[in-house]
Formats: sequence, structure tokens, C-alpha cells
Amino acid sequence: MTHTFNPPPAIRSIVIAGGGTAGWMTAVALSAMLSPQRCSITLVESDAIGPIGVGEATIPPIQLFNRIAGIDERDFLRATHATFKLGIEFAGWRDETHTYFHPFGRYGDDFAASPFHQHWLRAQALGDDTPIGAFSLNEQAAYAGRFRQPDADPRSVFSTFAHAYHFDAVLYGQYLRGLAEQRGVARREGLIEAVERDGASGRITGLRLDDGGLIEGDLFVDCTGLRSLLLGEALGVPFEDWTHWLPCNRALAVPTDCIDLARPYTRSTAHEAGWQWRIPLQHRMGNGMVYSAEFWSDTAAHDALMANLEGTPLADPRLIRFTTGRRAQSWSHNCVAIGLSAGFLEPLESTSIHLIQIAITKLLGWFPDMGFDPLTMAEFNRQIANEYDRVRDFLVLHYHANHRRGAFWEHCAQMPIPDSLAEKIAVFRRSGRLLSREADLFKDANWLAVLLGQGIMPTAYDPLADGLRPTELDKVLRGMRQVIARATAAMPTQAAWLADHLAQAQPA
Ligand SMILES: Cc1cc2nc3c(=O)[nH]c(=O)nc-3n(C[C@H](O)[C@H](O)[C@H](O)COP(=O)(O)OP(=O)(O)OC[C@H]3O[C@@H](n4cnc5c(N)ncnc54)[C@H](O)[C@@H]3O)c2cc1C
Repeated sequence: MTHTFNPPPAIRSIVIAGGGTAGWMTAVALSAMLSPQRCSITLVESDAIGPIGVGEATIPPIQLFNRIAGIDERDFLRATHATFKLGIEFAGWRDETHTYFHPFGRYGDDFAASPFHQHWLRAQALGDDTPIGAFSLNEQAAYAGRFRQPDADPRSVFSTFAHAYHFDAVLYGQYLRGLAEQRGVARREGLIEAVERDGASGRITGLRLDDGGLIEGDLFVDCTGLRSLLLGEALGVPFEDWTHWLPCNRALAVPTDCIDLARPYTRSTAHEAGWQWRIPLQHRMGNGMVYSAEFWSDTAAHDALMANLEGTPLADPRLIRFTTGRRAQSWSHNCVAIGLSAGFLEPLESTSIHLIQIAITKLLGWFPDMGFDPLTMAEFNRQIANEYDRVRDFLVLHYHANHRRGAFWEHCAQMPIPDSLAEKIAVFRRSGRLLSREADLFKDANWLAVLLGQGIMPTAYDPLADGLRPTELDKVLRGMRQVIARATAAMPTQAAWLADHLAQAQPA
């Protein structure tokens, strides 16, 4: 006997509220997966409000999004005036004088039954003071201003290399919009004045615009930014405030005319009650100060930012207010929040665009029908919450493990931290081991960079790393350093790579 399937009706129309990075990324990805005959996609945005216009640094998984979305790298680099990002330099974070680098990619190679860093720890115990960064191709290439594409062959040192991008947020939005519109996404300009709901089910039925128009749909994606107009305001999903762990709540953003292709990395410089970003693009520099208004006045933050800029400002600094945290659920009824409407953990490790990408991927993985199965929604919400929680722990580590002076930094050093982070730090301190948790975007190499960078040095290392004789260990480590140094010297500069490859991609 054949089984009879009886699924609820399929989703036939999706309405995306908001046309910032989250809205257009969602539109591009959904339109790549759903044919317009099967399901219409409409994006509503208001020119009167506009996108937040920041968010210019990314992390390597964005390449996966670009692949899913069918984005050609060179086309994208040219359209968004992008540069490569090999990691982040943290200046003054551990203390006022110390600088470290958080590279993408791996440190060295694992060997003799222990992870690479355990051998490095043992070498340190034997008196070798080579910094761990000497074993990172990303860090060496970043400081040498060099770039080339990674290599998938695990025998190549370039398989340890990884990159992301810096891009112009406004150009990125325009680029995504072009792609989405080519694929049949309809754009509707208008201010959403009311969210209409079905009295019985509570589901959203339509968005009422200021011109009287009503945009109806089956599934609504809330990409309305920090205001969270649909999920937060209309459906009343509460916001979990994490200011007690991530205390910064304001930013000042200002572009300058400085062009620096010699430094393919983001720089984050700690200040009195926050930190300054520096993001080099092909045509300008993105700069900003992220700070806590409880510890620093807007004027003091403004003055510190302006005193530490490279190049001439191209505009007045723009003030942005935010609260760190996330919505208790990202999906409620027939509405999924993606982007700032779902939460914001501050830009320290450039994770927001990644969290957009994760939410899109999970929405596609758990794509609903008109039944809106509560079990599906609960699992989606659990997975998304987990992603935010893991990123939160990683960010809190930067603030908490500091030896800076001043009220803000002393507050961060003394604040209670999430248990999950406290446990991770304690295990590392005792054994150099790294606890892996479900859905941790940041892998061992990332945690290692920041734990060591912030000055947390283990008191012991893996006993199995004692297997090699000291002379053998020294030989292996020296060999790795030499391979990385040679590979770095053989790479073209970023400037040469861009000139060469973007010129080739120009239409004839
Ligand atoms: C200071 C700062 C620096 C950041 N840096 C980074 C970074 O380096 N890397 C990173 O990954 N992320 C970063 N982020 C986060 C990043 O900017 C956002 O995740 C990203 O831009 C997505 O924003 P969004 O699309 O969710 O919201 P928005 O850009 O705010 O878009 C909201 C959209 O909703 C529309 N809208 C709102 N209300 C209405 C209404 N009533 N009617 C109609 N339309 C409406 C608006 O028109 C707009 O199109 C940063 C954020 C801040 C605050």
C-alpha cells in the first residue's frame, strides 16, 4: 500500500520587511533557492529611514554565502570596492602597550598525537620565546601586506590560509539589490505604519504602508533593524539585554580619505571606555568608535576618535545607539527576524553579517509550510540562540581578560561572566585545552589567539606533547616557521593582486 502524504499548503508569498544588509541578503538567498513561479518575494523598505549603513568587515564563512547566492568574487570585489581581510589586530586590549593579532586560518600543523599549540606551549616551557603568530600564514601575510587565494590541497601551506572581506556597506546593499531584482524579487518603497494580524491565529497577514497600500504574505521576514518592528513590536517577543556582559552601547562612525592596501586587516584599538575600528577599503577608510555611554561622554568619545584618524574625514561622525543582546526567539508565528531585528552583539569580531547568513541558512534548512510546525520553530530558535550565545562568550572574553587601568576596563575585568565562558577559560588555564561547544563559530585557533592575546597563559600543557626530544621539537617548529616565511615572501602584495585580478575581470 502506498503511503498518502497530506502536507499543509506550501508558502506562496514571502514579504521581507527592510532593505538593509539583512533584507537584501535574505532576498538574494531566497530568490536563488525558490523560483518566482513557486513563491513570490516582495521586499518593502523606506527611503525615509534607510539602512544603518555600517557593517563593513566580515569573517571567512561569507564565502559560503557568496557561493550559495551565486556571487562571483571579482564582480563583488569591484562592485563593493572591497579589500581582503586576513584577521584583526588588537592594539591596547590586554594592557595599554600590548598588541596582538587574531588571524583567520590555522596555526602550524598538528603532529605527534597533540594539537600544534600544545607543542608550542611545550617549546615555550623549554625556553623558546617564538610568538605563536610566527606559525600563522595569515598573520605573517597580513603584516607583510600580501594576499593570494587559499589552496584546498591539505598538503599545501596555503590550505592553512583563510580570508574574508572589507566592503562598502552601502555599495554592498546596492549590489545585493541588483542581484535580487534580476532574480524576480519585487521592491516596494514605503513606510510601514501598521502590522496587521489575524485575530484567531495571531499570524501577521499584511503590512500597512503610509500610502495606504497593504502588502500581504504567508511568511514575513523581519529585517527592520534595531527597531524589530514585526517580531519585537508587533508580536511582542522580548529582548534579552546583555549590557551587563557587553557594556558598549554607542558608536560614532566616520569615513576618511585614507587608502591603505598595505594592511589587509581590521584594526581595533582600545580607548578609555571602548575601542576604535579602522577598516581599509579600496577607495576610503572606514573608522568608528564603539563605547559605553555609562563611562564616556559622546564629546569625549568624539574627540578621541577625531584625534586618532588617518586621513581627512569625508563626513561628520554619525552617532548610533544600540543595546547588546538578542530576542528570546527569532521565529514567532509566521515571522522570522534576521539581522539587527533579531539581536546585536556589537561589532568587535565582525559577526553580525555572519549571524544574518546563519539565520538565512537555517531558515532554508527548516523552511516552513503553512502549518508553521511549532517543533520546527522551536528547533530553529534553539539553534539560533546557541549561535548568539557562543559569539557572546567570545566577545566577552576580549573585554573581561584585560589588565588596563580606568573605570570601564576595571569594571569589565570584575564583571561576572557567563558560566560557559568561565569554564572554557578555567580549562585552558589548567591544561591549555580548548573546550569545543555546539555551534561555536569560533574554532580552537580563534579562541587560542584571543586567550593568549589577552594574556591567559596555561600553567600546563598536554602530557602527550612530551613525546618528542627537545631537539626534534625544535627542528619541527623551525621547519614550519621557514615554510610560512617562504610562503609569505612568495605571495603578491594585496595591491598587486587587486590590480591584476580586477583589471582582468573588467568587461572588454
Ligand atoms: C557601529 C556598528 C558597526 C558594525 N560593524 C559591523 C561589521 O563590521 N561587521 C558586521 O558583520 N556587522 C557590523 N555591524 C552590524 C551590521 O551593520 C548589521 O548587522 C547589518 O548592517 C544589517 O543591518 P539590518 O539590515 O539588520 O538593519 P538596517 O540596516 O537598519 O536596515 C533596516 C531596514 O529596515 C527598513 N525599515 C525600518 N523601519 C521601517 C518602516 N517602518 N517601514 C519600512 N521600512 C523600514 C529600513 O528602511 C532599512 O532598509 C555593525 C553595526 C554597528 C551598529
